[in-house]
Amino acid sequence: MYKGPLKTTDVPLSTPVQYVKGVGPHLAKKLARLNVFTVEDLFYLIPNRYIDRRKMDPIGQLIPGKEKTIIGHVLSSGPVFLGKKGKQIYEVVVGDKTGKISAKWFHFYLNSMRKQFAVGTKVLLAGEVTTYRNKLQFFHPEAELLDSETEAMEIGGKILPVYPLTEGLYQKTLRRIIRNAWDHFGPSLKPALPLDFLERHHLADPWESIAQLHFPASDIDVDVLNARRSAAHRTLIFDEFFFLELGLALKKAKTVRQEGISIPFVPHVHEQFLGLLPFELTEAQKRVCNEIIQEMAKPFPMNRLIQGDVGSGKTVVALAAALQAAANGYQAAIMAPTEILAEQHFFTLRGFLDQMGIPCGLITSGVKGAEREKIYRLSASGEVPIVIGTHAIIQDDLQFAKLGLVVIDEQHRFGVLQRQALHKKGKSPDILVMTATPIPRTLALTAYGDLDVSVIDELPKGRKPVVTRLYGEKQRENLYEGMRSELKKGKQIFVVYPLIEESEKLDLKNATEMSQELARIFEPDYKVALLHGRLPVLQKETIMADFKSQKIQILTATSVVEVGVDCPNATVMVVEHAERFGLSQLHQLRGRVGRSTHQSYCILMADYRRSEDAKKRLKIMVETHDGFRIAEEDLAIRGPGEFLGTRQAGHPDFKIADLSRDFDILTLARKAAFELIEKDLTLSLPEHHVFRKILQTRWKGKLELLQVS
Ligand code: ADP
Ligand code: MG
Repeated sequence: MYKGPLKTTDVPLSTPVQYVKGVGPHLAKKLARLNVFTVEDLFYLIPNRYIDRRKMDPIGQLIPGKEKTIIGHVLSSGPVFLGKKGKQIYEVVVGDKTGKISAKWFHFYLNSMRKQFAVGTKVLLAGEVTTYRNKLQFFHPEAELLDSETEAMEIGGKILPVYPLTEGLYQKTLRRIIRNAWDHFGPSLKPALPLDFLERHHLADPWESIAQLHFPASDIDVDVLNARRSAAHRTLIFDEFFFLELGLALKKAKTVRQEGISIPFVPHVHEQFLGLLPFELTEAQKRVCNEIIQEMAKPFPMNRLIQGDVGSGKTVVALAAALQAAANGYQAAIMAPTEILAEQHFFTLRGFLDQMGIPCGLITSGVKGAEREKIYRLSASGEVPIVIGTHAIIQDDLQFAKLGLVVIDEQHRFGVLQRQALHKKGKSPDILVMTATPIPRTLALTAYGDLDVSVIDELPKGRKPVVTRLYGEKQRENLYEGMRSELKKGKQIFVVYPLIEESEKLDLKNATEMSQELARIFEPDYKVALLHGRLPVLQKETIMADFKSQKIQILTATSVVEVGVDCPNATVMVVEHAERFGLSQLHQLRGRVGRSTHQSYCILMADYRRSEDAKKRLKIMVETHDGFRIAEEDLAIRGPGEFLGTRQAGHPDFKIADLSRDFDILTLARKAAFELIEKDLTLSLPEHHVFRKILQTRWKGKLELLQVS
């Protein structure tokens, strides 16, 4: 977890938050839910936004579409049911002399809502004003009870910070304890970073910045604060990025100096492979192949990311690299994120490898017993030069005799730590990571900041952009008509659902049910099958094989088909409840079709009556095929989790920086960090010790960055 700038005094910022005046064990438990354990954590609990009490609006004069703050009394308060089946929301109607507005919550704790918003209570509400059936409303507004304490404004002043909360914890409590903590610890804090460093990068004192964010000056521009563009924000964002990039720079410098394996180019193997391909490589594929071949020959470990949009043909490039490793007597491991994909790679690659007389093995959780033992044995003895598999590859039982190259497909599904685990299997093998999800620029500089990048920026010849349509339930008949016409041409169809079983919470049609409906409509002329993650491995394999050999025409599936599946005869991708998917996911799904010279179609079935937002998002899919644009939009909407996988991915959380917003600051911080490492490779100059120390606390052993001697 993120740690603040180191203190230079003896004030123990690591003091448990429980000892702050006014906290105690009970409150400490609640704070823990916000990841606040120490005094320092408390200081780094940065407000989400600010309420400007200097300008209040009469309710009667509110204009929809604006961020507004009002004060009024609760007129009514209670749960309301939406629709027949009834999703429960909580509604509070607040009024003043000029009018009334309702506030609605989808997520709430009934009892605490009832208690807080008793009729007659004076409250402050802040948020974006919208309308519903011509009535004004706030949706999940910031809400404050104005009892005598807050009214007197002893805490917070005119510009009130709004903190992230958890059940039973209130704004005023947080404001009070942060004030208490600051009064006690604040005065003795000194900046840890050298003054000339702060000056050079136009930064304020980090501690002063923190103080300003908790206790904003009364003349400050609240819009600037809310946009997180204040000098204080800038300082803390820079600080956060800088130490991340410093870690990456250090890691990269370390790899470069590390001894690795040299895999010199063996031209006749490459030529033989190209001869077996039913097509010619695109110019982009050739260029990337060359970049890889050249780098593999160097006696340092390769750390390269291949970025290429869906369908750009990354698999053959990876195989070309694997063959070079094999030709030099080394082993190559190819890791894919799902069993289906690993198997697909295995079958594709084996087709070529058999012709070249090179053995290969498959290892997934489905490979069991004697067969698994056999792979273990052959891999450990070096008899199998190419091993393809899922994350089973990084399990401890699998050993390699002479691992020379590791290929990680669909890298965004794996975390940095997993990359590290693979690395350990061999003596600094070359590493090639591939991703079809175009990585937004910011992420490329953070999550993958230590890698070199090759881009396949060209699709194979003759590919036509996939025609994308947005359909509602009313157009379902048109959809079936369109499907029928493609089926008549001998083409195949994917139909993808977000879930596989009836879920009461989300009122979604489920894949099983719909697969049955499609069977009623299209069978016996065309065969319909259902594929989902919970099927036994063997059954999944059979279904995929039957789809590829065109025994199945319509494949209903959950998002297991999202990554990598390659079946060029499929020309229609139908996505049900498209509004439930992220844009990058949709882009991946769409990439399952349009893999031949035939025109393909992607039909997004969506219900966005409740959300203009969803409609806007889905329109982007219709407008563009540019994976980069889609990825940037997705990052802005859904945050980095979508790209980085889970938190266990070994990527530090940002407390205040935002990858989609702060690209400019990231660029500067990265430059500063890499320059520093260039000057002092191991941060061993006395004036740089402070950076090392901070780095150590922030990364806390993550990525084993700091084993620099
Ligand atoms: P991705 O980059 O999405 O992983 P694949 O490697 O699965 O893409 O390739 C997509 C499809 O394009 C496959 O069917 C593959 O055989 C084919 N392909 C790859 N390179 C070329 C090429 N140069 N010309 C024509 N087809 C190609
Ligand atoms: Mg692929």
